[in-house]
Amino acid sequence: MAQRVVVIGGGILGLAVAWELIRQGGNVTVLEKENSWAAHQTGHNSNVVHAGLYYKPGSAKARMSVAGNRSIVDFARANGVGVQVCGKLVVATTEAQLPALGVLAERAEANGVPAKLISREEAREYEPEVSCVKALRVESTGIIDFPGVCTALVKLLEDKGAELRLGTPALGIRPGHTGGVEVATGNEVLKADALVNCAGLQADRVAQLAGLTPSARIVPFRGEYYELRPERRHLVRGLIYPVPDPTLPFLGVHLTRMLDGSVHAGPNAVLALRREGYRWRDISPADIADVARFPGSWRLARKYAYPTGLEEVLRSLSKRRFAASLAQLVPAVTADDIVRAGSGVRAQALRPDGSLVDDFLIETAPHQVHVLNAPSPAATSALEIAKHVAASVA
Ligand SMILES: Cc1cc2nc3c(=O)[nH]c(=O)nc-3n(C[C@H](O)[C@H](O)[C@H](O)COP(=O)(O)OP(=O)(O)OC[C@H]3O[C@@H](n4cnc5c(N)ncnc54)[C@H](O)[C@@H]3O)c2cc1C
Repeated sequence: MAQRVVVIGGGILGLAVAWELIRQGGNVTVLEKENSWAAHQTGHNSNVVHAGLYYKPGSAKARMSVAGNRSIVDFARANGVGVQVCGKLVVATTEAQLPALGVLAERAEANGVPAKLISREEAREYEPEVSCVKALRVESTGIIDFPGVCTALVKLLEDKGAELRLGTPALGIRPGHTGGVEVATGNEVLKADALVNCAGLQADRVAQLAGLTPSARIVPFRGEYYELRPERRHLVRGLIYPVPDPTLPFLGVHLTRMLDGSVHAGPNAVLALRREGYRWRDISPADIADVARFPGSWRLARKYAYPTGLEEVLRSLSKRRFAASLAQLVPAVTADDIVRAGSGVRAQALRPDGSLVDDFLIETAPHQVHVLNAPSPAATSALEIAKHVAASVA
């Protein structure tokens, strides 16, 4: 185990990695550029503990989400963080979706996820308002308070004497004069044996700061949420998901009952015009230029701009279209039943050939580990990714 490690990023991954390193006897400093923990992806997501059914058998996502599903629930329970293993339904709303639902059931089995195909009548026992031809019932999906997990990790880290610095961006990285690595913040240079980059939406830029040419670049995809008005919450008891389009990396807008009883709907997926841009009016010319300069962006656009991308944009701009997507799952939902409920921005890595990186991507260099693609289900898998990263640091 390297003695002194600087972790860049105070989202769930940076904090989980710091905790794993401390548990293994390391001496850790966490740098977070914002003034609070979990300020970006970790604090703006669906708060779902995924079961692991969607991912290619044998992939890091499959292995780490199945194991993470258990470890994050155990961690939450042991540390007084809100969590509930309530299960979910994936619903085929047309006959045409049945083959894809069947494939999902096979994947669940291959990944060791407890799931069973059920009839429309059985599905309606779980969700009386749902529209479906058939459904997949998944028992191990849950809901959780991911920012609460971060608060608990911060407390554990503080108790063990980790140095935790908010409002402290890593601005420069270079090899140390006598080995190891040096990380410059605004007002000091930290010397360490190793560096871990968990910078989420900025991960590729931090890797570049460290002298790497990462094999993929981050493209920010905003996901917008609505929520059901309190008087319409009874329409959804738990979690209702559509059958996902296997060619897309996102799961499709779904209905999620949260721990506080509210029901969230979303997220959709539109290209964000700023990496940390939560509204259409959040625009960064530098971020847009970055996307435009990267050849992968144009290849991705050729593949998805029409009709998928256009439909996502229209749905983002029209509450009626958003409600219509939800009504495919629960026909009683109308545009009058939903109100805006914030958004999150996903850090999705893209290769120069225009393909989206499907699996988690972690690259190493001497004294450095860079987490370069950790989209959903990385929050679910955080403690497992942390073990892997800590082993790579050692
Ligand atoms: C809309 C949406 C829904 C999702 N739903 C789910 C879900 O239900 N279940 C699930 O498992 N996953 C979900 N995810 C994915 C999950 O949120 C992410 O995989 C996870 O939060 C990634 O954590 P992270 O720590 O890598 O990134 P982040 O939480 O983004 O943290 C990275 C941190 O690095 C900091 N940083 C960046 N640059 C620097 C720098 N130079 N110096 C210092 N600090 C820096 C940032 O400020 C940020 O706080 C969802 C994501 C989104 C966006």
